[in-house]
Amino acid sequence: MSVLVVVNETRLVLIQGDITQQATDAIVNAANSGLMGGGGVDGAIHRAGGPIIMEECRRIIEKIGRLPAGKAVITSGGRLKAKYVIHTVGPVWHGGRSGEAETLVSAYRESLKLAAANGLKSISFPAISTGAYSYPLERAARVALATAMDFARGDDSLQEIRFVLYDSYSYQVYADILKELTPKPEG
Ligand code: ADP
Repeated sequence: MSVLVVVNETRLVLIQGDITQQATDAIVNAANSGLMGGGGVDGAIHRAGGPIIMEECRRIIEKIGRLPAGKAVITSGGRLKAKYVIHTVGPVWHGGRSGEAETLVSAYRESLKLAAANGLKSISFPAISTGAYSYPLERAARVALATAMDFARGDDSLQEIRFVLYDSYSYQVYADILKELTPKPEG
């Protein structure tokens, strides 16, 4: 099952599946500031992509110290079908009054900008911050989809922005919110 909405020149696609299996130019990792791997989607990406990705992450951290929440960096994709992994850090949910929404918008936006700046045509996102970082799913979905739509309105370089939801419940929440955010044709 999948849902598709076109904004400007960009397809926004929702699918239920495993992000490590996506053959888009890049997949996005919901990393932590140390870029040292972890559970959830981060662990799955490093397991599937092999040690080259971690080696590149280590070199980046040597240079920049840590990756602040809301920022993004790019590495190769190792053994993945995707050529690149864009690592971003979402906010930890502390109740919503600590700038969580702004940080989550930034994590999506910086990832999209980095993809476009590298000439990539397609990108897959997981539901950043909605696992270990406890961001409420419905609110996170609204941020993810609105930020992608907003980006696509201003920049037509990406052909596809794909949201890969791991379970059917998350997929349904995203599908409902995408419908809500999509203007209905008049008449
Ligand atoms: P965070 O620390 O940003 O919350 P997590 O990895 O804990 O990141 O969870 C983010 C989301 O990724 C969760 O909704 C989780 O269900 C989902 N997820 C976990 N593994 C995968 C995978 N292989 N593909 C796609 N999504 C995944």
